Amino acid sequence: MPQPDTHLKRVFADAFKQLGRGRKRFHPDAASIEVKFYPYAGLHHTIRVRAGRVFVRISDLLQSAPPEVIRSLAFLLVARLLTRKAPRSEERIYRAYAFSPQILRASDLARKQRGRKLVSSAIGRVYDLEKLFSRLNRRYFDGQIDKPTLTWSRRRARSILGHHDAAHDTITISKTLDSKDVPEWFVEYILFHEMLHIKHPARIINGRRYYHTAAFRAEEQRYPGYEQAQEWLDRVVRKRHELRARAA
Ligand SMILES: [Zn+2]
Repeated sequence: MPQPDTHLKRVFADAFKQLGRGRKRFHPDAASIEVKFYPYAGLHHTIRVRAGRVFVRISDLLQSAPPEVIRSLAFLLVARLLTRKAPRSEERIYRAYAFSPQILRASDLARKQRGRKLVSSAIGRVYDLEKLFSRLNRRYFDGQIDKPTLTWSRRRARSILGHHDAAHDTITISKTLDSKDVPEWFVEYILFHEMLHIKHPARIINGRRYYHTAAFRAEEQRYPGYEQAQEWLDRVVRKRHELRARAA
């Protein structure tokens, strides 16, 4: 079972505290640590610091790992970041799990299935999502949005133009927009909307999940191309209806 976020943050904060003991080192508290599972192609994890915040991505192959394995991994990653030696005992615990036949098999499979495909699919035939993302991030978010996996959809889904998957930290944009017939500013708007989902995570109120919160909507409406994009959206939707009517 996936472990709750707050627990993961605490595990990492604890590793910082223990490994940085007795030194004037970096001691982030749980609130400034972000831990996510990530669909890397293989058993791979990353840790980095930006503007005083710690960002950890753990291979989703460890999503159901026992708590002591995650704890050991936290020690290994924090040690790597602080350029300190990780305790031998933690290394042993992690390796015993990471090199178990079950995890090796899952890791092989992930490499085959995810391979390069996922990495290169941000570059479409017309538009490069990475480039658009960087520009939007600079212009509207002070570069503060941690880059998710960006990918064009494999199928030409017409009904959903963009989607943000928080669990896998992935933004998928419909392949239908990767076309010379679609202006760049419109693709940018769709990507901007999905980036807002990263900035404004869904809120749960009375057991219901709200994705487009008031703060989300307010910021979206401040986007300079908002009105123009809405008009284009209306037109795209109308055109689709006409097509469907003709086909019927
Ligand atoms: Zn949305």
